[in-house]
Amino acid sequence: MSIKENLEEVEKRISAAAQKSGRNRGDITLVAVTKTHSPEMMNEVIRLGVTDIGENKPQEVRDKFEHVLPVKWHLIGHLQTNKVKYVIDKVCMIHSVDSIKLMDEIERQAGKRGIGMDILIQVNISGEETKSGVSRGEVEALLLHAEKLEHVKVKGLMTIAPKTDNSVTNILHFDNIRQLFIDIKQKTYDNVNMEYLSMGMSGDYETAIECGANIVRVGSAIFGERNYSQK
Ligand SMILES: *Cc1c(COP(=O)(O)O)cnc(C)c1O
Repeated sequence: MSIKENLEEVEKRISAAAQKSGRNRGDITLVAVTKTHSPEMMNEVIRLGVTDIGENKPQEVRDKFEHVLPVKWHLIGHLQTNKVKYVIDKVCMIHSVDSIKLMDEIERQAGKRGIGMDILIQVNISGEETKSGVSRGEVEALLLHAEKLEHVKVKGLMTIAPKTDNSVTNILHFDNIRQLFIDIKQKTYDNVNMEYLSMGMSGDYETAIECGANIVRVGSAIFGERNYSQK
């Protein structure tokens, strides 16, 4: 299948899942994940109507930025503090904030440029050792810290579900994070607006939407399998 056909299929499924959960297609943001893919491929999906793209490495954002048509960039992968400066003036949102140290560096770099930066807190909802993100219990410390920041704006939560064939387990994880999202919303912290719940990838985006996601990050279902050796 071509990228165009893949994208049409993903669009159809997003609409169906949104409707199933009582929402519209317009309530869900599709972030097309373009890591390892060329600016030409990125421009192809942008011409097909994609408005948001996601990269997981700051270097890739920096290197491709000038070669890609105007679009909203999301940084979705692990971010080291010393790389914040590569992306701070290029991305519209950082999904992968998982420490106070990282928040402080985003604050510093955004402050230097006099801009605000939307962030999501990445939660490791499954408790898996290998995944980045903070545990459920650590989220509050980050929210309290965010209350003191001027440039960093907390806009929601992000999670990566464990790779599993058991979609029931993922429904549990997604429901857990949705509940956390709702709990935080009700507590009303300063400078924290729970607007976005970023969860769901190629294998589970429909499930995630049905569980309340309003941002899905989809790569291989649009572009096919990634070839990491051929970058
Ligand atoms: C690569 C990546 C995705 C997309 O994965 P696919 O399975 O190709 O859809 C989504 N989120 C993050 C954080 C990623 O690194």
